[in-house]
Amino acid sequence: MSYNPKCSICPFEKRDRLCSSGEKFIKDCPTKQFQEYREEIKKEYLNPQIDRIYKISSDIKGPGKTRIEETLYVAEKMGYQKIGIAFCSGLKKEAEIIQNLFEAKGFVVNSVICSCGNLKKSDFIENTEDKNNKSFCNPYLQAAALNKAETEWNIVVGLCVGHDSIFMKYSNAMCTVFAVKDKVAAHNPLGPVYTLDTYYNFLKK
Ligand code: SF4
Repeated sequence: MSYNPKCSICPFEKRDRLCSSGEKFIKDCPTKQFQEYREEIKKEYLNPQIDRIYKISSDIKGPGKTRIEETLYVAEKMGYQKIGIAFCSGLKKEAEIIQNLFEAKGFVVNSVICSCGNLKKSDFIENTEDKNNKSFCNPYLQAAALNKAETEWNIVVGLCVGHDSIFMKYSNAMCTVFAVKDKVAAHNPLGPVYTLDTYYNFLKK
């Protein structure tokens, strides 16, 4: 039988939910379904590859810290010395500002642009020409270059949807997403989501 967890449509108030302090849940609730694996799950967080970042990340409580502050906080608490940035060429300026900030805080920073490697359309499709001679994104090489630089934590800045997946698949270091690209919504993809019942209603049709 297929398993279909759907927490996003769970109708109960937070205080009443099984995953909070209540007892209510819906069909295929992961809290209920995985109850018997609780101890095994806890043990996973003791895995030395993730236990520190799990605790440090869980320490960031409540409002008050911006994303950039949280990113610096985790990097500092983790004791990382070498940070990687994988960024979209359209956000080069922003990547430079982030790099400068981390360097001012004492980190060594390596950064790799999405167009690295200069792949062309003709590299993938025979007998084709791209009039704009545009470079294809190369998230595999971004990861390989940061792997070679032995960065300890990689920050993703605006990689395309899907290219970010490839980058994270091949990155040796753990990754965090600092910014996501949205060419229309000023890099705020939740903007259209908040207006799905009005201006972006057409997306639902
Ligand atoms: S109670 Fe269960 S189904 Fe509802 S939000 Fe929590 S984990 Fe998801």
